[in-house]
Amino acid sequence: MLWIGDHESVIKAIYSGSEFLGGAAASNEVGVVLESTRSLILDYLRALLVHFKLAMSKLLVDYERRKFVAPNHTCTHMLNFALREVLGNNVDQKGSIVVPEKLRFDFSHGKPIDPELLGKIESIVNEQIKSELDVFSKEATLAEAKRINGLRAVFGEVYPDPVRVVSIGKQVEDLLADPENEEWSSISTELCGGTHIKNTREAKAFALLSEEGIAKGVRWITAVTSDCAFQAIEMALSLEQEVDGASKMEGSQLEKKVASLKSRVDGASIPAAKKSDLRTKLSVLQNKVRKAQKKIAEENMKKAVKVATEMAEVAASDGKGFCISRVDVGLDAAATIQ
Ligand SMILES: [Zn+2]
Repeated sequence: MLWIGDHESVIKAIYSGSEFLGGAAASNEVGVVLESTRSLILDYLRALLVHFKLAMSKLLVDYERRKFVAPNHTCTHMLNFALREVLGNNVDQKGSIVVPEKLRFDFSHGKPIDPELLGKIESIVNEQIKSELDVFSKEATLAEAKRINGLRAVFGEVYPDPVRVVSIGKQVEDLLADPENEEWSSISTELCGGTHIKNTREAKAFALLSEEGIAKGVRWITAVTSDCAFQAIEMALSLEQEVDGASKMEGSQLEKKVASLKSRVDGASIPAAKKSDLRTKLSVLQNKVRKAQKKIAEENMKKAVKVATEMAEVAASDGKGFCISRVDVGLDAAATIQ
């Protein structure tokens, strides 16, 4: 559904992003369901995939917005595919939001995904982008479409009939001609009415930024593509260089650097797998800081005991029953008590 130029149709519903509206004023930004896009899936309407500006009675498609939404949407399909590849067939789509800035994918899974697996999921999507796969779409009867091996559909979703099939790397006609072919389980095929890029290379890059639980057995992943993905990857690289640089530091310089890096890494929009790596490296450095602090404390303790013992001996040889002395151990309370 990549329209170029004017389009005439009847508006069947108007969506504000949170509710359906009875109407919209000129220049309001709303999502609409058109009679001509009957295969539009409601779930993607929620995702505001179709975004228009209503001007007078004429619909102007916001192509600028669509330009950024399309790669995010196609990457959502690749992410859905990669999740099944890595986690197995029990992963089902529970929702999806695609906006120009990012994508969010909700899915069924009982526990947090290991960062290593998140990295694997991310690289499957990036491999598909690098493979420059064509994105195909075609209408088919619902019964025909459902026979395609490996087809991803949202459980409980009511699909129109005929329905639009979107496949990545293989023509929909080929899938329909031999639906049970085992080979199809290794490509992304979905029932979908949304906007897509024509080739996966247009997404440029994919960065999986976060993975977290939102309800019992339901988790979500947020991710970015294109320039936002490049930015996330560059930011991760520059933080990694700083972390590696910090490992050559010592003492209070190291302590300060680790504290600053920790809060910056925690708050950074960088790939989740890389964030986990950096946290591991930082915790090694935190241990180094702790060990150094402990060593200083032990040395202070020894120093305090040594000075006190010497002073006590001097006092005893002078015939005094007590003595007061200054021991230079800074603010080390433990050493002072000793
Ligand atoms: Zn879709």
